[in-house]
Amino acid sequence: MKIIVLKFGGTSVGTLDRIVKISKIIISYIKKKYKVIVVTSAMSGVTNELIKKAGKISKNFPNSERDVLLSTGEQMASALIAGKLCDLGFNSRSWMSWQIPIITKGNYSSARIIKIGTDQLKRYLKKGGTPIITGFQGLNKESRLTTLERGGSDASAIMLAKFFKAKRCIIYTDVDGVYTTDPNLTKKAKKIKALSYEEMLEMSSLGAKVMQPASIQDAKLNKVKIDVKSSFTNKAGTQIIGRKKIKDTNIIRGVSFTKNDAKISLLGVKDKPGVAAAIFEPLYKNSINVDMVVQNISSDGKETDLTFTIKSDDLLKTKKLISRNKKIKFKKLIVDKNVSKVSIVGVGMITTPGVTYRMFQALANKKINILVISTSEIKISVLIKSKNLKKSVELLHKEFNLNK
Ligand code: ASP
Ligand code: MG
Repeated sequence: MKIIVLKFGGTSVGTLDRIVKISKIIISYIKKKYKVIVVTSAMSGVTNELIKKAGKISKNFPNSERDVLLSTGEQMASALIAGKLCDLGFNSRSWMSWQIPIITKGNYSSARIIKIGTDQLKRYLKKGGTPIITGFQGLNKESRLTTLERGGSDASAIMLAKFFKAKRCIIYTDVDGVYTTDPNLTKKAKKIKALSYEEMLEMSSLGAKVMQPASIQDAKLNKVKIDVKSSFTNKAGTQIIGRKKIKDTNIIRGVSFTKNDAKISLLGVKDKPGVAAAIFEPLYKNSINVDMVVQNISSDGKETDLTFTIKSDDLLKTKKLISRNKKIKFKKLIVDKNVSKVSIVGVGMITTPGVTYRMFQALANKKINILVISTSEIKISVLIKSKNLKKSVELLHKEFNLNK
């Protein structure tokens, strides 16, 4: 069987007109003799509305019931799509996760798919049916409904592609692919033809919101080939594939950035074992995500300065936790709310020396000061003043030949 998985995001099924439109996309694949597995998100806005309702009726709405409530969004969309396909003369029906079943493990609201039954669906596909599967939801050991993290329909699609050995998985969304940087920031942004899982993972964790990061991890582990395309236009999209299959030899694939960062510096912290752990423990316990961290080498061996970044939304809470923390002593706390992180991403930097230097020199040439630096195998991030954000992104985009 030539199986293909098509996933439609919230805006792609956002109105009844859109559902008619994507039904035609589905039919175009059926006509090309594909056995089509469709995965749908909830109509845009629906999941957020449901979350609000839960919050209004109870401050302690149980997580298990939250998942039952939220999964209704996808149920509604799947029935509407299946209904339209039947109306157009095709054999189609909705499948809830528990009917397949899609088995998950882990906590409510952040479950992960571990297994998908294939027998029933295979029989259905063989008979010429087109299943419309609810994304984002699964079933746990206790036979209760679960949901994946927000944006989790992507993960549903990827895992279905894995268990059904699909030729590929097409993620239909409202942008026509992954760009070298945010097209809203600069007109120089170009659509990327193909990038590796690792690059996509870094870029989506660093601010590019095209796909759910956890789903890309699933795709990488299971070698699922992905196409990201727009359901609004008929343009070629972006492929996400293994790095060996990529022909483009550019060292850097894209420039990502985040906007709402805040920097905290603790000056005059006692330099002894356990201090950093004592600072970060309460933050971790309160689910505050610490991103970049630098600790200066102390000149006298007694005191040091420690700087780290968090999301601006967490700033007040973080300041409170630090001032209440009896385990740490420091002389001064300095906060900077107007900082942004700019990153260059590309597997090419593993084998190319001098990328770090080029990045820093390009920023220095324009007198842009670097506040904090962090690196991984395939990315280099710098923290800068937010007022320099656009300029920095544009100059790095040019420096690494992404403007062409
Ligand atoms: N409807 C869910 C959400 O809004 C899942 C998804 O869209 O992928 O997070
Ligand atoms: Mg979505």
